[in-house]
Amino acid sequence: MQPSAPSDHAEIREEVRKLCARFPGEYWRRLDAARAYPAEFVAALTESGYLAVLIPEAFGGAGLGLSAAAAILETIHANGCNGAACHAQMYIMGTILRHGSAAQQAEYLPGIAAGTLRLQAFGVTEPTSGTDTTALRTFARRDGDDYVVNGQKIWTSRAEHSDLMLLLARTTPREQVARRTEGLSTFLVDMRAAAGRGLTIRPIRTMMNHNSCEVFFDDLRIPAASLIGAEGSGFRAVLDGMNAERLLIAAECIGDARWFLDKATAYANSRQVFGRPIGQNQGVQFPIARAYAQMRAADLMVREGLAKYEAGAPCGPEANMAKMLAAEASWAAAEACVQTHGGFGFAEEYDVERKFRETRLYQVAPISTNLVLSYLAEHVLGLPRSY
Ligand SMILES: Cc1cc2nc3c(=O)[nH]c(=O)nc-3n(C[C@H](O)[C@H](O)[C@H](O)COP(=O)(O)OP(=O)(O)OC[C@H]3O[C@@H](n4cnc5c(N)ncnc54)[C@H](O)[C@@H]3O)c2cc1C
Repeated sequence: MQPSAPSDHAEIREEVRKLCARFPGEYWRRLDAARAYPAEFVAALTESGYLAVLIPEAFGGAGLGLSAAAAILETIHANGCNGAACHAQMYIMGTILRHGSAAQQAEYLPGIAAGTLRLQAFGVTEPTSGTDTTALRTFARRDGDDYVVNGQKIWTSRAEHSDLMLLLARTTPREQVARRTEGLSTFLVDMRAAAGRGLTIRPIRTMMNHNSCEVFFDDLRIPAASLIGAEGSGFRAVLDGMNAERLLIAAECIGDARWFLDKATAYANSRQVFGRPIGQNQGVQFPIARAYAQMRAADLMVREGLAKYEAGAPCGPEANMAKMLAAEASWAAAEACVQTHGGFGFAEEYDVERKFRETRLYQVAPISTNLVLSYLAEHVLGLPRSY
């Protein structure tokens, strides 16, 4: 395959590629079988400073733009590794950066930049609210100098591998606010202090190795100083970070698509059946070529979204479209790759089936395709709100 040679952040991409070469398929296969956390991989990225690229230099980060983070994550995925183990360390801190007090920024950001403080967990989704975020029920009640938290989160990824959690909870019941997005607040919960004192984490075994958990809050007391931004304005604070998250996940999908296309092309060129390479058959070529075109088109949308984000322009439509198109492109490439490999697409040692399982997630999380389409229909095209 002749990939579109990305011209941006070429040095970073090359260094990340070298780092990833130390973590071959065999490493990920072993972890996948044990559903274990890639601690060595995350440590290597942390030590190299890649997880701190978005943190301003004043707090010990590299102070680079979102496109640098996207280049890192895309390269990780294009080389068969998985950024889902740690991508949140890059962007969750954005809520502290944009909405935290100067004291909170000074307290947390240097540690997050150094990797001594892991901010990997983001607790939004709940079992009963699902995509309807404002229906979440976890409640933080003010009590003197504390808040008392009760409720449950689900799918809180990396909760067992994080020191801090950004938590979205209700502080005013939904029926007492004028708009359903009001009365929600964001908290930075120190999970080290909370463990065993009202916070319980339970891992969920999933189709792929993702370290997602249920998190239970049972009269958990957290200091009032854990509140990020004004009480009741948490939805806005969390929403601000979502475009960044969607663009970065889209970049991971582009990376996955590149990995699948490389694998599919190499196999189609080398595998001989009926005395000729299978790649000589157009029935084998076309799905690969189509997925390549989809990936390239999605990549353009990712780049447009990144450019707008970095320019400080509104980029909700682009971030959402990028995430949807890139997730579909990576899935098309995954499907073509499995089909091209025939039976070996199912064999663990080829890594194709593992990546196939991993890339399926991105049509559901962090936001499902239907919700992206409904956003575009309503907010971009002006069609009636459907829910
Ligand atoms: C591995 C994994 C990791 C995750 N990590 C995190 C995390 O770290 N933090 C966190 O907070 N969450 C996390 N999530 C949750 C994820 O964001 C949600 O699963 C996702 O947003 C979908 O929500 P849901 O599962 O509740 O689906 P539901 O809201 O129950 O939706 C189910 C299906 O119905 C569709 N649907 C629902 N309403 C409508 C509608 N009005 N119109 C059309 N279709 C509709 C959806 O598109 C979806 O396909 C993770 C999920 C997974 C699987």
